[in-house]
Amino acid sequence: MSETLSASPPLRFDERIVGVHEGVRPGRTHVIMGGVHGNEPAGLLAARRVLDVLGQGHLPVAGRIVVLAGNLGALAHDRRFLSTDLNRGWREPDLARLLAADPSHDGPEDRERRDLLEHLANLEASSDEPLLFLDLHTTSGPSAPFMAASDTLRNREVMLSLPIPVLLGLEEAIGGTLMGFLSDRGHVSMAIEAGQHDRAETVDRHESALWMWLAAARALSPGDIPDGARHVSRLAAASRDLPLLMEIVYRHAVAPDDEFVMDPGWESFQDVEAGRRLAVDRTGPIEAPAGGFLLMPLYQAQGDDGFFISRSVRRHQRRLQEVVRRLRLDLLLPLLPGLRGDAERPDHLVADASTADGRLAGLLRLFGYRSRWVEGERVIFARRRPNFRGVKRRRPDDGRR
Ligand SMILES: [Zn+2]
Repeated sequence: MSETLSASPPLRFDERIVGVHEGVRPGRTHVIMGGVHGNEPAGLLAARRVLDVLGQGHLPVAGRIVVLAGNLGALAHDRRFLSTDLNRGWREPDLARLLAADPSHDGPEDRERRDLLEHLANLEASSDEPLLFLDLHTTSGPSAPFMAASDTLRNREVMLSLPIPVLLGLEEAIGGTLMGFLSDRGHVSMAIEAGQHDRAETVDRHESALWMWLAAARALSPGDIPDGARHVSRLAAASRDLPLLMEIVYRHAVAPDDEFVMDPGWESFQDVEAGRRLAVDRTGPIEAPAGGFLLMPLYQAQGDDGFFISRSVRRHQRRLQEVVRRLRLDLLLPLLPGLRGDAERPDHLVADASTADGRLAGLLRLFGYRSRWVEGERVIFARRRPNFRGVKRRRPDDGRR
């Protein structure tokens, strides 16, 4: 058994800004977030270690590195959240509703969300380039580390530089996440799941991933990472022989009154065949609807994702996805029979229910269309805006004269 975090000194995170490091060379703003789920402090502990090393001032960092704490109230109570999940509710309509509401009626997470919005807006305003954003998470069950982000080529370029699996489609399957919100605002935005909540090795993995992410995001040259080889081998060993690119093919959503209980003993990235029993709820046993790698089985009371199933994206598929997007073949999609663009919403496609089969979904995934829902007789497919460079930001010298 590995050491657990309870053996460490008490975990206290009282301030939104955990630390800021100003580099010695010009560069982008790198925002690292931990503890958006309050029972997941491992990312913040790792970020503190990285800030300590940066603070010694020996490394030629480009740009600025900012570490933010997520759910301060929930971190103090070691709970995922106090009232509502702080990693949900980041869609524009939800935020508009929050900002229009009277703050005196705010629940605990509404207050956190408002304060985070303000900090993120300040970071945007002081940066004339898109931010590079990394959200640090851990899981209730054991897991190899992995990265997730919305499926854009800009995100892929950074994620595929780390020696851990990249999972596409998770962000789109969950929806309303902080990482998705930042993607929608044109930032390069991703998350790392490093392993089980309270394991000391999870902090080590986050630390290694942070150093490698800073290099992938060009805050540091790979050769400048202290102990770089050790971080690479630690992450490679933790990732075993898993495929480096995977995509979600199924999410089992859980409602509070489902009485969902995962069968004991499942781990992330275990291979399951279709039809294998995985869990039970008040309607009876739940079986895997498709074969693949099981992901994030739910072993805690709070949470609305029971489990996910993912599959490997093979090298030729990955190449094909990248080529068709660079060639902008997506411009031809609305010409396909039964498929049309949506005049109101960019990066949405509308299909007739009769044409929206698995083959069409597979074709659209090539172009990054990984969200799918039904509106009346129509099926809507959506993706993150692939070439969007961001909402209009102030130039850094504006307002400083
Ligand atoms: Zn989390």
